[in-house]
Amino acid sequence: MNRGLLGILVGLGAAIGAMWAAKRFSGTNEDETTSGAGAAAGAITTATEPVAHREGLDPTLLEILACPDDKAPVIYQKEGQAERLTCTKCGKRYPVRDGIPVMLIDEATPGPVPSEAEIAAARALIPQGKPARVGP
Ligand SMILES: [Zn+2]
Repeated sequence: MNRGLLGILVGLGAAIGAMWAAKRFSGTNEDETTSGAGAAAGAITTATEPVAHREGLDPTLLEILACPDDKAPVIYQKEGQAERLTCTKCGKRYPVRDGIPVMLIDEATPGPVPSEAEIAAARALIPQGKPARVGP
């Protein structure tokens, strides 16, 4: 009889402890969820900007992209309405479609290796993520 009562008390204590721990955990989690949701909402606002008004590429993305053929850095250029990433080593031109760089050798078109001046002009625009204009 006593042993049974003790078991109930221990069980009850464990249940209360678990509830307390769960409540504490969920409380902490709620705070994180709230701030996380705020950050996510900000990201969604940025992502849903009209595509027509978009110009440029995420500068962070631009810095990490490289030519898949020779791993050389690429520069972001725009010629007419066509945006592209041009390899600074082999001159291959990778198309940028709707703001998405297509870094595939099969999709690339050959072109002249950009001059030092072209590379410098494109690099100067990296902080804004804007393409350097070439041609018309
Ligand atoms: Zn290359």
